[in-house]
Amino acid sequence: MDNVNCLAGIACPNCGHDEEFLITCTVQVRLTDYGVDDDYAFKHGDGFSWDDASPIECKECEHSGQVADFTVPQRVAS
Ligand SMILES: [Zn+2]
Repeated sequence: MDNVNCLAGIACPNCGHDEEFLITCTVQVRLTDYGVDDDYAFKHGDGFSWDDASPIECKECEHSGQVADFTVPQRVAS
């Protein structure tokens, strides 16, 4: 499958799987003494975010690394 959205350019460097991964994200929440408002990130922020240094794991073979390790060069459309 050629991913065109969230997983565009992402594939496992160990097995080539490109459909499902576990990724460790950063999410900004509103915290009060009563607890966490986890809707805050989606109402007022960027939602879940990650970058090339975020930990990622392949759901197929459990190979893990950083997003940069799982990023494949984009093919040029012909
Ligand atoms: Zn894999």
